[in-house]
Amino acid sequence: MNRRLDDDPSVYKTLLESTKAIPWKIDWNTLTFSYIGPQIEQLLGWEPSSWVGVQDWAARMHEEDRERVVNFCVSQSQAGVDHEADYRALTKDGRFVWIRDVVHVVRNPAGEVESLIGFMFDISERKQTEQKLIDLQKELEKLSFKDGLTGVANRRMFDSVMDVEWLNAKRHRHPLSLIMVDIDYFKQYNDHYGHLQGDDCLKRVSQALSESATRARDFVARFGGEEFVLVLPESNEEAAAAVAERCRKAIFKLQIAHDKSPISQLLSISLGVGTITPGQSENLLDFINTVDRRLYQAKQNGRNCIVAQDNEKTLAN
Ligand code: GH3
Ligand code: MG
Ligand code: MG
Repeated sequence: MNRRLDDDPSVYKTLLESTKAIPWKIDWNTLTFSYIGPQIEQLLGWEPSSWVGVQDWAARMHEEDRERVVNFCVSQSQAGVDHEADYRALTKDGRFVWIRDVVHVVRNPAGEVESLIGFMFDISERKQTEQKLIDLQKELEKLSFKDGLTGVANRRMFDSVMDVEWLNAKRHRHPLSLIMVDIDYFKQYNDHYGHLQGDDCLKRVSQALSESATRARDFVARFGGEEFVLVLPESNEEAAAAVAERCRKAIFKLQIAHDKSPISQLLSISLGVGTITPGQSENLLDFINTVDRRLYQAKQNGRNCIVAQDNEKTLAN
C-alpha cells in the first residue's frame, strides 16, 4: 500500500460525502453549482440537482439574512478573500436551519477568481445554546438591578439612577427631589406576625409607594431592609411634599394591622424629603445624608410623619 491518497479521486469523494459538513463548489464565471454533496438533501430536503445557481442558494435563505449574507459573500469573493457566514437556510418543508458556510476562493494561475469551494455546517444546536445564553444573560442583568422580594429596583439600581439624575439636574438646572421612607416599628411587626407576613407587608408597601409616584421618570427602589427611596426628577419642594403625603396616605389605606405599634393600630411610615438644584459646590452624598437625617428627625418627631426641612416639626401626623 504505497499509493498516495490523491492517486484515487474516489477516496476524496467518499470522504467528502461521508462527513457531516456539506461540500460544494461554485463556478465563478457562470455562478452555478458544479458540485454539492448529497448530504444536503438529508439536512434541508432539497435534492442536489435542484441546486443550480447562486440564486437557488440566495432564495433558500431567511429573508432577514439574505441581503446581509449575499452582499457580504459577493464582496468577499470579488476581493478574493476566504470568508464565512451564518444564516438560516430554508428547508423544503418550510422550516429554517442555522448554517455556517465556510468559503475558500480558488484562483487560476493568472490570479483571477475561478471558483468558490466550501462547506456548509449545521450550527442550529450551537445557535440554540447561544440564544439560551443570551436570554439568561438578559435575565441576569434584569435580576441584578431588581430587588428579589419586592420586584422594585434595588440599591444598586438606585445608585446608578441617582448618579444620572444628579448630573441631569446639574446640567439643566432642574430641581431634583428625594424621599426616604422607613416603616415604623417593623421589628415589632416581624416579631409579632412572623417573617413571612413581614415579607408580604414589604411587597405591599413597595407596591403602594410605586403607585404614589406617577410621573414617567419617577423612580422607586428598596434602599435596604424596610427602607425605600423615591427619586423625583424635575420636581420642586411642593411636588415632593405632595408625593410624600400621597405615600403616607397610601400606606394608611392599605389598612395593615399592626397590633404592636406604640403609635397606631395600623402600619405606618416615616419620611424624609429633600429638594436640590445641584451646582458645582453641592455633593450627592451630602444631599442623601441630609434627607436621611430628616427621616431620622421624623422618627424623633413621633413617626408616621414627614420632615422636609432641617429641624422641622411634624408636617403631618
Ligand atoms: P423604627 O420605627 O425606628 O424604624 O423601628 P423599626 O423596628 O422599623 O426599625 P429597625 O431598623 O430596628 O428594624 C427593622 C426591621 O426590619 C428589622 C428586620 O427584622 C426587618 N427586616 C429587614 N429586612 C427584612 C426583610 O427582608 N423581610 C422581613 N420580613 N423583615 C425585614
Ligand atoms: Mg430601618
Ligand atoms: Mg423601621
